[in-house]
Amino acid sequence: MAEPIAHSGKGMKLHTKILLGLVVGAVLGIAVNQTLGGDHEAVVFVNKYIAGPVGQIFLRLLFMIVIPLVFASIALGVAGLGDLRRVGRVGGKAIGYFLASTALAATLGLIAVSVVRPGEQIDRVTAEQLRTEFAGDASSRVEAAASTDFGVNTIVNMFTRNPVKSAVDLDLLGIITFSLIFGAALTLITAERAKPMLSWLEALQDVVIKIVEMAMRFAPYGVTALIFGVTSRFGFHLLKPLGAYVMVVIGALLIHVLVNLSLILRFLVGVSPFLFYRRIRAALVTAFSTSSSSATLPTALSVAERNLGIPPSIAGFVLPLGSTMCMNGTALFEGITVIFLAQVFGVALNLGQMVVVMVMAVLTAVGAAGVPGGSIPLLVTILVMFGIPAEGIAIILGVDRILDMSRTTVNVCGDLSATAFVARTERVWNASMIPSNEEMAVPHVLDDSPGWPKAADAPK
Ligand code: ASP
Repeated sequence: MAEPIAHSGKGMKLHTKILLGLVVGAVLGIAVNQTLGGDHEAVVFVNKYIAGPVGQIFLRLLFMIVIPLVFASIALGVAGLGDLRRVGRVGGKAIGYFLASTALAATLGLIAVSVVRPGEQIDRVTAEQLRTEFAGDASSRVEAAASTDFGVNTIVNMFTRNPVKSAVDLDLLGIITFSLIFGAALTLITAERAKPMLSWLEALQDVVIKIVEMAMRFAPYGVTALIFGVTSRFGFHLLKPLGAYVMVVIGALLIHVLVNLSLILRFLVGVSPFLFYRRIRAALVTAFSTSSSSATLPTALSVAERNLGIPPSIAGFVLPLGSTMCMNGTALFEGITVIFLAQVFGVALNLGQMVVVMVMAVLTAVGAAGVPGGSIPLLVTILVMFGIPAEGIAIILGVDRILDMSRTTVNVCGDLSATAFVARTERVWNASMIPSNEEMAVPHVLDDSPGWPKAADAPK
């Protein structure tokens, strides 16, 4: 019996341990930051030789399996869905949900920032100070934006010329397109010929899942280290001038989860939002501590299939797509930040322009890479579009990490809600298939059964 992401094998449940790691890391980090200061020798030493390496190893354990996991899950997902019309329908439904939920989030962000107007609460002198303090970091982000090719080429580039190069560059959209085509082609050859490849892909997926399990066992320490690293060095003094802006972003993110996504879960998916969030919390904590949707994908897949009971053919197909295309939190953050900086620089935007900001926030969120700060270069391109100084991004960079952690958590929440929505509307899953607590608390058994259920096991 495969072990759900709930139990660490002995004593305390794994997600409790991970949450504990989050709290311990945050408390220790804030404490040393406030007493010794982020630049203190001891803090620098701990970050360089202990917290930094531990956090990095955890991140890399997750990143190292993203490419094989995406390839195996999508190819198997498509093959498991069987006929290509069904693949098209499921894909269309998923992308429709991604766009609609992201637009909802961006609109909420625009309303919040227009009502609170945090940009008007920041005086010119403070804005100038922040700009100078983060000017160096900002100019490298602006340079990155200049080399960002966003537009029709984004679509062309999805059709990778070389999947191996896409894998090397962690170009997920390229790998996703390749895997979709690969999976589709698998359904078009004879069953006899397809069989060895399907077994190979299933074995690959099983191995990767074992690595996810190992990484998750390490997660409590990795999470502690990552959170300590951020909080011990964080410029808490920046929270004062930027407090209103940070509150608007975090407040709107919370409203999106607690109201928008919860209503969708309750009424369109038919599941209790509370139960849903409890079941996916290992993925939420991973997202919060890594600030990366891509790094969270292995955990997200694991909780979707094991803790929610969503069939692998749907989860393996929708989640990888969502981790790079569905970014509710990012679009919300982008909308707020564009208007906030417009307010700081006194650039007035009319309603029509606001709608364009909303559309751009949605499109760039689809295009943003699921890595820490992945949306910043695209955000810069929106600023330029509206005549807001690109270097103005410096004003928010000091608080971006904390916002990145928060928006990534909402991005992952959105991805998982999309997966549940698609599974529900495809009639292959419903709330009654969520494993009960007792089922989830199956003790760890070191057996040789490979792990997750196979695509073919999905209820029809
Ligand atoms: N860090 C975000 C993610 O991985 C992307 C971003 O908004 O920068 O989902």
